[in-house]
Amino acid sequence: MLAYDENGNLREFEECENIVVCNHCKKLYRQRTEEQVPGFRDVDDDICPYCHESNGRSGDVEFHNEPLSDEEVKSLKKN
Ligand SMILES: [Zn+2]
Repeated sequence: MLAYDENGNLREFEECENIVVCNHCKKLYRQRTEEQVPGFRDVDDDICPYCHESNGRSGDVEFHNEPLSDEEVKSLKKN
């Protein structure tokens, strides 16, 4: 997947579970989703932790997004 590295260069990264790319700023972030409780479902937005734009929404899961450290971004780079 294509995203910006810690130096702001667009490059290819390894596909990794729970790691997604923001459609707006093209930065990598960690995403954990949690099933919503049936009967108490609410629409939750997938908000980028950097630019705070929405990358979609869901009525089934809740999104818990976190930015990655520079070290984590480096370790995901494709060689
Ligand atoms: Zn973003």
